[in-house]
Amino acid sequence: MAEKACRDCNRIVEDESECPVCRNNDLSDSWSGLVVIYDPEDSEIADKIGISTPGRYAVRVK
Ligand SMILES: [Zn+2]
Repeated sequence: MAEKACRDCNRIVEDESECPVCRNNDLSDSWSGLVVIYDPEDSEIADKIGISTPGRYAVRVK
């Protein structure tokens, strides 16, 4: 699978070796649940996971 999730901020990362949001290179193949955040300021899920940048995020990262 080409999509990985950042262990730090849960961001879905496609075909890259580091997270575009936090520049973390600790990415996981093992994640589940996908949320798309359009407006972090107005999203309960974004608040819960701690997201401040719009994009696609995993709900759970192992
Ligand atoms: Zn990240």
